Amino acid sequence: MARVGVFVCFCGANIADFVDVPTVVEEAKKIREVKFAVDYKYMCSDPGQQMIRDAIVQYRLTSIVVAACSPRMHEKTFRKALSDAGMNPYLLEVANIREHSSWVHQKDKKAATEKAGDLVRMAVAKSIANEQLHEISVPVTKRALVIGGGIAGIQAALDIADARIPVTLVERSPSIGGRMAQLDETFPTLDCSQCILTPKMVDVASHPYIELIPYSEVIELNGYVGNYKARIRKKASYVNFKSCTGCGACWQKCPVKVPNEYNMGIDKRKAIYTPFPQAVPNKPVIDAEHCTMLLKGKCGICAKFCEKGAIDFKMVDEVIEREIGAVVVATGYDLWDATPYEEYGVGRYKDIINSLEFERMVSANGPTGGLPIRPSDGKVPKSVVFIKCVGSRDKAKGIEFCSKICCMYTAKHAILLHHKVHDSRAYIFYMDIRAAGKGYEEFVNRAQVETGAVYLRGRVSKIYQKGDKLMVRGEDGNLGQEVEVEADLVVLATAIVPYKENPALARLLGISYDKYGYLSEAHPKLRPVETAKAGIFLAGCTQAPKDIPETVAQASACAAKVCGLFAGDTMKKDPMVSTVNKEFCSGCQNCVTVCPYQAIVTEDIPLGHGAKETRTVAKINEGVCQGCGSCVAICRSMAINLAGFTDPQIINEIVAI
Ligand code: FAD
Ligand code: SF4
Ligand code: SF4
Repeated sequence: MARVGVFVCFCGANIADFVDVPTVVEEAKKIREVKFAVDYKYMCSDPGQQMIRDAIVQYRLTSIVVAACSPRMHEKTFRKALSDAGMNPYLLEVANIREHSSWVHQKDKKAATEKAGDLVRMAVAKSIANEQLHEISVPVTKRALVIGGGIAGIQAALDIADARIPVTLVERSPSIGGRMAQLDETFPTLDCSQCILTPKMVDVASHPYIELIPYSEVIELNGYVGNYKARIRKKASYVNFKSCTGCGACWQKCPVKVPNEYNMGIDKRKAIYTPFPQAVPNKPVIDAEHCTMLLKGKCGICAKFCEKGAIDFKMVDEVIEREIGAVVVATGYDLWDATPYEEYGVGRYKDIINSLEFERMVSANGPTGGLPIRPSDGKVPKSVVFIKCVGSRDKAKGIEFCSKICCMYTAKHAILLHHKVHDSRAYIFYMDIRAAGKGYEEFVNRAQVETGAVYLRGRVSKIYQKGDKLMVRGEDGNLGQEVEVEADLVVLATAIVPYKENPALARLLGISYDKYGYLSEAHPKLRPVETAKAGIFLAGCTQAPKDIPETVAQASACAAKVCGLFAGDTMKKDPMVSTVNKEFCSGCQNCVTVCPYQAIVTEDIPLGHGAKETRTVAKINEGVCQGCGSCVAICRSMAINLAGFTDPQIINEIVAI
């Protein structure tokens, strides 16, 4: 006969304020199989766990029910307590009386208490049918895939590779570096972005444990933690990188000019191009959308001037496969398109630019030789208005979040403007100044004192043209009146948003994303770099806006997670997986179709004992199965069993309720 122990947690006031915990204990004691029931303030604490361990031994318990918070929080903790007392950890059931009762029924303590009692009865009934289960061991492929070669991807790849774990780094554009390669000096120390970034880029290219695959994208990911298989499309570069020396003769002679993405379209690049002088790899690619030879079969000038014969117009996209054990997604951010701000005249007035355009202008290697200029007439501006929170924190425009970095980089822009144009003045319209970081407040103070930047607290309501000036009308909350500032140039700190392709990538990887397209972490506080899919991690702005220090910290955290995952040759996996009873299986293969993890294949087995004829049945790869139960639900022959959620367990619960 089963002997069940029930442990009901107060969770401080979380449960106890809304559920009458002693009553739940008394109700549990009335169940025939319950041989011990008790409550405690914090069951997950050391004394709480010790109570469980002691009771298992003293009352010779055969299964345990902990009525507390979500199993996502502490199931592992309690399983370990069972193990430590010599009990199979899967003889535990968690009744979630916090999220499922106290938190959602705060206005009705009586009903919440009754519901908690029901949840405990169900868990007790289920636990009686629990079986001993054992963790599954799966082999691990010790190679990581990093998607995105900005500073997040670079840092993660270097840290993993330094631990002598091979890394495949896939970057969509022709060079790694990401947005950081476009920045001039960086807050809060004003060190040159390129100077601190390029050595890391070079390290990536020369690292014996890193395989860099630029100009490529991941198009498929199958498998499961420790054993993923990725398909990667290498876009045709039309340049043979092995023979190309990077001399540049080709792009110097190419007659086609198109807007230069690296310089935010301020100047032009050629149809064959290297994105920027310090690009890694430093080899050109041909932009097939603009190359006259590829479009019309005419030209080929680059091929004529290439002494190495490296140009190959016949090159095609190539798909390669890599087996990997873990993935770090580091696909970064884009700037929000401010066109919905009609009142600012975005798109109408040439002298309104965004923050990355300003960043490129003031960069020493930028398209204007390091000076800000007015796009309308090429003159150097003296009065520059910076507007923060353009898109960010503006529910009406669809973005509620704070972009987090604009307060800081706008202060930086005021300093850079002052350094470049000594007799200039910056006017900054702002909602708040959010400068929470080491040395950040000091940096903003420096911008205000050193440059004389005028900070005006309020939203801009309108921008209109007057002669060759832009008139910026807004509020000055400090003076409590409307102000109008005459500007030569207006710089918009537009919201930081994920790339529009992020949701498609998330679906491809099988991970979730929020309403903006940012990829979602497994838990905002306790698992901030993991996704809900085991073995897939997030680094940098693909998850949310971040500055460089925060991005680098998160990337290193991802690397630590990957190294931890690869610490052994095999990995332990929960045994809650499905198995097929071949005798009952009709071979309809509905389960194969419904399984979201492609964990089910088919096999042919003899029709009967010793028979030569065969029939097809389903077979589950327990390493791939995630225990979602979809196959169990679809199987009409009732041939599939999910360990930990067997029919007797579920029926017991239903009967109890
Ligand atoms: P990114 O730099 O965006 O890199 C992402 C990379 O992933 C890119 O190379 C991209 O091509 C690649 N990619 C995207 N999708 C895919 C895909 N599907 N497959 C493969 N590759 C893909 N921070 C500071 O700390 N100090 C500063 O002074 C500072 N100044 C800034 C000024 C401005 C105007 C702005 C807008 C930002 C500034 N930042 C600053 C923030 C800084 O740019 C970011 O913190 C940093 O770039 C984030 O790095 P990341 O790797 O997450 O993203
Ligand atoms: Fe490479 Fe040839 Fe172009 Fe020189 S001319 S950069 S070798 S492709
Ligand atoms: Fe606005 Fe500052 Fe947040 Fe940027 S970081 S959205 S400027 S409050």
